[in-house]
Amino acid sequence: MNFEKQQYITIEDVLSQAHILISYNDARILLQHVLKINHAYIITHPEQSLTPIQIHTFQLLVKQRASGEPVSYILGECEFYSIKFKVTPSVLIPRQETELLVDLALEKVSSSMPCKILDLGTGSGVIAITIAKHRTLSNVTAADNSADAIAIAKTNAERLSVNNVNFIKSDWFQALTKRKFDLIISNPPYIALNDPHLNQQDLRFEPKLALVAEQDGMFCIQTIISSAASYLNAGGWLLLEHGYNQAKITKQLLKEAGFISVFSRSDLAGIPRVSGGRYDPPL
Ligand code: GLN
Repeated sequence: MNFEKQQYITIEDVLSQAHILISYNDARILLQHVLKINHAYIITHPEQSLTPIQIHTFQLLVKQRASGEPVSYILGECEFYSIKFKVTPSVLIPRQETELLVDLALEKVSSSMPCKILDLGTGSGVIAITIAKHRTLSNVTAADNSADAIAIAKTNAERLSVNNVNFIKSDWFQALTKRKFDLIISNPPYIALNDPHLNQQDLRFEPKLALVAEQDGMFCIQTIISSAASYLNAGGWLLLEHGYNQAKITKQLLKEAGFISVFSRSDLAGIPRVSGGRYDPPL
């Protein structure tokens, strides 16, 4: 981007220049951040001029994005369920698909009764915190094996003044001995080690530990399903996000582990994305 000869450099100018290097949408989000303005302001004030410092700051961010770094890591934040969360390269960038998991969890948890909820592999804490915010009578336990992730999730809960979540460092259920929940949810790593998508776009910058699982991506899902019943109250639900081709095998594993009312639900792209079942203990 070179504006040396121009006297007034406007929002419209910098956006169209940046669009040569990165998507218009990304450029807009980065510019909003630099100018501390919202989308509506960009639309209504395309002729507003920028100071040299603003132009320079924006150019640096555009360069970072053009090198492939995800916008959420550049800005250190990401929106999920209309809430702003802090994210760093130690945690996965929350995906829109995961909002389906939250929708289903909220369907299962009454707003007028206290429930005990467990989020396994909480990462930035988006699932646990969003549910806790919408179900204030419930108590949410957010577990992750990464101390860095727990630290970020805690910061998010504090920043959002959500007090009904507690955090625990745990390798899946390991540190949760003898505790029982009414709902267990997880968006575990589920990408196969040899999946070519791992070398593309944002995935290149995200922690492999949060993305990848052995056994064609099924290892963590299987680990969770095989232990979940011991941590569920009778009638409690287990809900899991999974890959585009894992609904059938996930449902089969749930049935084999004794879960009833087993189902899958598709995301907005029509891909089966969440499967779940209810724990029905033998009499
Ligand atoms: N629970 C977090 C999320 O859904 C992290 C998931 C993960 O790291 N696999 O964004």
